[in-house]
Amino acid sequence: MQFPARTQSRWQGFDRSRLPDPITYYATELAALCGHGRRATARCPFHDDRHPSLSVNLDTGAFRCWVPACGAHGRDVLAFHMARYGLPFAAAAKALGAWRTKT
Ligand SMILES: [Zn+2]
Repeated sequence: MQFPARTQSRWQGFDRSRLPDPITYYATELAALCGHGRRATARCPFHDDRHPSLSVNLDTGAFRCWVPACGAHGRDVLAFHMARYGLPFAAAAKALGAWRTKT
């Protein structure tokens, strides 16, 4: 599929459908993930957390830390990966396998 050059952007390789399943991703990334059904909690990796303060939605991948001084939040596993590892958008998408490489 060809696109005119002017419509190309740094987002062009991103394929959201290739993002890992939130359940699989968070089970790998978060220690002591526990929960019921769609919601789970874990110790927050964005601050020195002693109790599970991070709430994650296992359907969408959205996450939020309920400690006001921390306040980490995002809407999907990609946002989590960017925040946790300090990566720009494209690098995080590539790390998660959600970036199409040209052949
Ligand atoms: Zn936190």
